[in-house]
Amino acid sequence: MACTQIPDLPLDLFGRDQVQKWIEQHVPLCGSIELDLRCNLRCLHCYRDGEWPSGIMDTDELKRVLDQVAEAGTIWMLFTGGEIFLRRDFFEIYEHARSLGLIVTLFTNATMVTETIADRLSEQVPYSIEVSLYGYSRETYEKVTGIEGSRDTCYRGVERLLERGLPVSLKTIVMRTNQHEVEDMARYAQSHGVPFKYSTMINPNFDGSLTPCNVRLNPEEAVAVDFALESRLEEYREYFELRKDMTSSRVFSCGAGSRTFHIDPYGNMKMCILLRDPEYSLRSMSFQQIWNEMFPPVYTQMRSDDHQCNSCNFFSLCDKCAAWSQMEKGDVAARVEYTCEAGHRRAAKLGFYDGPLDQSTRGLEPTNEVLLPIVNSGGCCS
Ligand code: SF4
Ligand code: SF4
Repeated sequence: MACTQIPDLPLDLFGRDQVQKWIEQHVPLCGSIELDLRCNLRCLHCYRDGEWPSGIMDTDELKRVLDQVAEAGTIWMLFTGGEIFLRRDFFEIYEHARSLGLIVTLFTNATMVTETIADRLSEQVPYSIEVSLYGYSRETYEKVTGIEGSRDTCYRGVERLLERGLPVSLKTIVMRTNQHEVEDMARYAQSHGVPFKYSTMINPNFDGSLTPCNVRLNPEEAVAVDFALESRLEEYREYFELRKDMTSSRVFSCGAGSRTFHIDPYGNMKMCILLRDPEYSLRSMSFQQIWNEMFPPVYTQMRSDDHQCNSCNFFSLCDKCAAWSQMEKGDVAARVEYTCEAGHRRAAKLGFYDGPLDQSTRGLEPTNEVLLPIVNSGGCCS
């Protein structure tokens, strides 16, 4: 499915043709910025857990960076962290971004959303506020976050946003610790009439440690969760129907560096939030220089001719992600057995694959052609 690190682009706001033109013109349409790495939670699955060195951008430096971003033609900007509301100057930065015409989405855990913060957001409503839930019950939520009392402050924060009619959407990362409460979270979202989405994508930590993977589901479990809701099965089916004849030899087939970028709190610019390197400092280079000169040689990389993924039709089902490959295998082009197995299992569930499923213990025999649907009843892919 689509990358969970990039908010869905609301193409209809501008018209698909216009957006397509901007993509062809290599406009940096969509960016994300980590305002701070500090967080008030200590989640089991966090890929940013660890030391938070000093030296983050101050208010003025951040504003100057946003000036460059807007000047380069960026339309959608995501503010994320860490926890964004830990920054005392959050509203100064947010309001500056809005004054530049940027359409801003906020990622937050909502635990710091006070009445004052909710009121202030109502004065200048963001495009979207995506709140991460880590469980439904207090016990589960706090087992994930490690902070007593955080479940109630989160849900209270969500309700403050909802009371003001703000554009909230809820999401969760499904892991061993909270998988039994996904339906509860979905029902909670439904009862408030707001969208809910979930992902099973858990990567190693940025520092290379595999600790976050201790709580991730194995590929079989992850795919079972993916397809637990009938609506998700249909989404996957529609998504794959459009892509089932496609193959790609590109290392970055996701838009990282060609239409999206990321800036960390120290002013380092990268092609996406999960990609550790390359990174280039906005303290010594301009945004345009990095975007126009440094990124293109990276995002146009192709895999070697004999790479297993080149001829595989399931790349749209396997969460194929160069950053994930870099974090888990140290090589942006590497095949990750975990995601590969998940991709094949999804294809099997949709009726497009009937070969061996365990991709980690056997050599991969890429399928060069999509199998005819195994199950034809119920309108499956027919
Ligand atoms: S490299 Fe991975 S995380 Fe980064 S934008 Fe692409 S798919 Fe998303
Ligand atoms: S399913 Fe496996 S072989 Fe196919 S693109 Fe994904 S990682 Fe590569």
